[in-house]
Formats: sequence, C-alpha cells, structure tokens
Amino acid sequence: MVKDVLSATLEYGLAPMSWTDYLYLSVGGTLSNAGISGQTFNHGPQISNVYELDVVTGKGELVTCSEDRNSELFHAVLGGLGQFGIITRARIALEPAPHRVRWIRVLYSNFATFCKDQEYLISMHGKPGNERFDYVEGFVIVDEGLINNWRSSFFSASNPVKITSLKADGDVLYCLEITKNYNQGNADSVDEEIQSLLKKLDFIPTSVFTTDLPYLDFLDRVHKAELKLRSKGLWDVPHPWLNLFVPKSRIADFDKGVFKGILGNKTSGPILIYPMNKNKWDQRSSVVTPEEDVFYLVAFLRSALDTETLEYLSNENRQIVRFCHDSEIKVKQYLPHYTTHQEWMDHFGDKWTQFSARKMKFDPRQILATGQQIFQFDPSNPLTLTNYI
Ligand SMILES: Cc1cc2nc3c(=O)[nH]c(=O)nc-3n(C[C@H](O)[C@H](O)[C@H](O)COP(=O)(O)OP(=O)(O)OC[C@H]3O[C@@H](n4cnc5c(N)ncnc54)[C@H](O)[C@@H]3O)c2cc1C
Repeated sequence: MVKDVLSATLEYGLAPMSWTDYLYLSVGGTLSNAGISGQTFNHGPQISNVYELDVVTGKGELVTCSEDRNSELFHAVLGGLGQFGIITRARIALEPAPHRVRWIRVLYSNFATFCKDQEYLISMHGKPGNERFDYVEGFVIVDEGLINNWRSSFFSASNPVKITSLKADGDVLYCLEITKNYNQGNADSVDEEIQSLLKKLDFIPTSVFTTDLPYLDFLDRVHKAELKLRSKGLWDVPHPWLNLFVPKSRIADFDKGVFKGILGNKTSGPILIYPMNKNKWDQRSSVVTPEEDVFYLVAFLRSALDTETLEYLSNENRQIVRFCHDSEIKVKQYLPHYTTHQEWMDHFGDKWTQFSARKMKFDPRQILATGQQIFQFDPSNPLTLTNYI
C-alpha cells in the first residue's frame, strides 16, 4: 500500500516525490493507471518516477525491467491497466521529506481567471522551490455539504468558511488549492515566499484560507475525511466516478457546458480540476493523454446513497461524455471504463496498435485483467487478438 511505502521511507527522512491524494491504494494498482495529484505538474505522475520494476507477465515469467532493461515491458506495464503483467516490486524516486506544509485555498468567481492562475502556477515547473508552489490542485464549488467536501478536512470548525457569503445563488465558485513545503531551515522565510507568489494571482482578495500541518498529515488528508464518512455509513456506497483529461484549449467550453450547464445545482461529491504539463508524461508508457501541451484533470468524485441517485449520476456521466463528443472536445478518460471493444480502440487511438501488440507479446492467452473487457479471448483460436491489430 502507498501508505506503507511512506511509513517506511519516512524512517529515513525520505518520501516519494509524486503522490495520489489518497494513500490507501496499492502501488501496483496506481502504477497501472498513472498516480496523479497536485505534484504532477512538477514531478510528473507516479509512473514518471519509477526506476525499475519486477513483473510477472501473462506468460508466467518473472522479469526485472527498467528503461535500459526489458524496456518494452517496463513502458507497457506503466499505465497498462494490469494487462501485461503483475507488478511485484517497484524501485521509485525519493526525496528528503519536508517537515511541514502550508496549505492554502483561495477562491475565484471567474473561471478564465482561475484557469489563467492555475496555468501560470504549473508553468513554474522545474523552477527552484522558492519560485513555485509544491502542489497545485483545485475544485469546483457548486453546492456544499459533507459529501461534497470529503476529500479533505480543510474547512472545519476551527477554519470556518462561509462560502455562501461569497457566492450568489446558482453561481459556481472555483477554489485553487496550493501548498508550500518547508523545513526548520526555511521556516523563517516561508511566509515571505508565499506572499510573493500569491501577489501574482488574481483570486477574490478576502478569500484566503490557510492552514499549517505536518507533511504526513497533509499527504494523509483524505483518510481523515474517509473516517468521518465511514462513521456515518457514507463511505461504502456506490461511487459513479468520472475522471477526464480535458485539453486546455477547450476547458472554457467544458466549464460552460458542464459546470454551468449539465450539473445543475447538485453535484453529490467533490469535483477536482487542475492542469498538468504533458512533457512530464512519458509517451512510451501505455497511458493516453490529450494531444496538447497542457491538459486538465476534471474528476467527478461522486457518491450515490440510493439507487435512484446512482441511476441519475450514471446518466449524468453519460451526458457529460456525450457533450464532449458532440462538441468535439477531445477528452481522454483517466481510470477508464468502457464496455465495448470499439470504445477501447477509440480510447487508445494511435496507441492501440502498440497496446494490442504488447498484449500478444506479454499476455498472449489474455489471462490478466479480463474484467475490463479490452480484449476478447476466443479459446479455439488463441491468435484472435490479431484481428484487432
Ligand atoms: C478513494 C480513492 C481515491 C483515489 N485517489 C486517486 C488519486 O488521487 N490519484 C490517482 O491517480 N488515482 C486515485 N485513485 C484511483 C486509483 O489510482 C486506482 O483506483 C488504482 O487502481 C487503485 O489501486 P488498487 O490497489 O485499488 O487497484 P485495483 O482496483 O485492485 O486494480 C485496479 C487496476 O490495477 C491493476 N492492478 C492492481 N494491482 C496490480 C499489480 N500489482 N500489477 C499490475 N496491475 C495491477 C488491476 O488489474 C486493475 O486493472 C483513487 C481511488 C480511490 C478508491
């Protein structure tokens, strides 16, 4: 589990560089997708921070692979949805763990300004630490309530936020979420650095909310919310999630059509939105992203407490995907879910030929991750797969 990796590395004062928002996930499962969070703009997804893997392929062979050794398998399994082999060991990049985190949220009522600032912040990737934030995320505020804010305990009794005072009925607000890591060594200068970075942004001036906490508590923030939801029986419920990578050039159309259109005034869960730099994603991996230098993750992380809501939200997800298709917004699903072969081929696009050829090579009998219905195996003809290439 990712959380165990963190506990083990912290004993040496070290920590992985790229994260997911939630830590109770397996290493193999996240590396089979990508592993993204607010550090991705700077360090790339988790799959860009792997040095070496041990993989048991669909042929039953245990193979050690890396960029230089069995590199095709290495790139195939990263973002490979478990289709080529089972990851049994990963050697990943670490860095000295910061001690504390200054965690800041600021609000916007104007979507264009919100995006301008987010894109500016992620353009600072690779700059020295004092010239950029360490984490850039954001979310859309359509309505309020526990279920909508479960991703964090930020707005709490000790940090009260009257969002209604900033928001006219029916309006959509956008919250930029940023952090700055620091140690005892630079604790004196962190406020000054933050102020100088915040000066470059155009958020609603009265809407700065700051909290300060140990690094571990920040990384493990979603777990706190999980415990709260569990205690109310609101965690183990169906989650009709939809995660989309939206190209930067069409994010304003997406806002108009989805956040201010399809969603209405009820979201049933948090909606994350933050941009990433494509050059931090290794194009040799199996994961697919839009054809633009910058693209946004838009994550509808919704919960359905009854079957009626489940049906309603699932329909709404389909409506969102259809809207993107009809408006020619070339989104890619993250954590993709499809039920037909054609949809999978469309999802992989130019990468389909390579993806299916790699399947033939590493799992020719198609015994791995069959539930995703990417490939259909005909036992009477083990070479059926070639039909799809
Ligand atoms: C509460 C919650 C929060 C999340 N937050 C984030 C987030 O912030 N960022 C993010 O990027 N993702 C996030 N995810 C998604 C998460 O990355 C995926 O669901 C991932 O698959 C989880 O890993 P798992 O251990 O649950 O995998 P499983 O659900 O068990 O498996 C998912 C896929 O990975 C494959 N797989 C699993 N283990 C291995 C292995 N060892 N080797 C090869 N393939 C394997 C399976 O075949 C399957 O295809 C979140 C998920 C949840 C439930």
